[in-house]
Amino acid sequence: MKYSIIPVTPFQQNCTLLWCEESKKAAVVDPGGDIAVVLARIAELGLELEKILLTHAHIDHAGGTAELVKQTGVPIEGPHIGDQFWIDGLPQQSQMFGFPQVEIFTPDRWLEEGDRVTVGNETLEVLHCPGHTPGHVVFYSPESQLAQVGDVLFQGSIGRTDFPKGDHATLISSIREKLFPLGDSVAFIPGHGPMSTFGHERKTNPFVSDSRG
Ligand SMILES: [Zn+2]
Ligand SMILES: [Zn+2]
Repeated sequence: MKYSIIPVTPFQQNCTLLWCEESKKAAVVDPGGDIAVVLARIAELGLELEKILLTHAHIDHAGGTAELVKQTGVPIEGPHIGDQFWIDGLPQQSQMFGFPQVEIFTPDRWLEEGDRVTVGNETLEVLHCPGHTPGHVVFYSPESQLAQVGDVLFQGSIGRTDFPKGDHATLISSIREKLFPLGDSVAFIPGHGPMSTFGHERKTNPFVSDSRG
């Protein structure tokens, strides 16, 4: 599994292209906006867009979804149905944060814990990791030891839980009981900021390190 990170929107959200080297088929994870830039990168890399994957439905992650579907016709997979209310609220989110007006959409497939999604000949495992939003999912490639974790975990921080239906204890459990068991050497792409590994966060993250007990 190859990847390329494209920070989009004023929130510099890490929209990520994941692709299968064999087939050159690609998925866009979290097309929050700046769709022209995302499409240009796909063309530049000589990839064929196969689908959209969503970790959760906050505007900076999902705001460009309807437009990308309009331009390419590809299906949407994710997030978990717990984020339906965030999708329904996208027009209000765009007003609140001064984003261009966005349209709501209906995922072609809601995802659940234990599901698998494919990108070309590659397979990603789906983990349901609520806390930041109730329907947040994480995409994990065991073969590449790589995860796209959205706003669950960051280098040196964790996702906000002060939104409707956010929950701090649930988020901590998602990180400790679902992400960290994947292994210290697993690298992750967060929704914002630089990459890290689960091992590095277990040692140094002020919110979820092992020493925090
Ligand atoms: Zn978020
Ligand atoms: Zn975000």
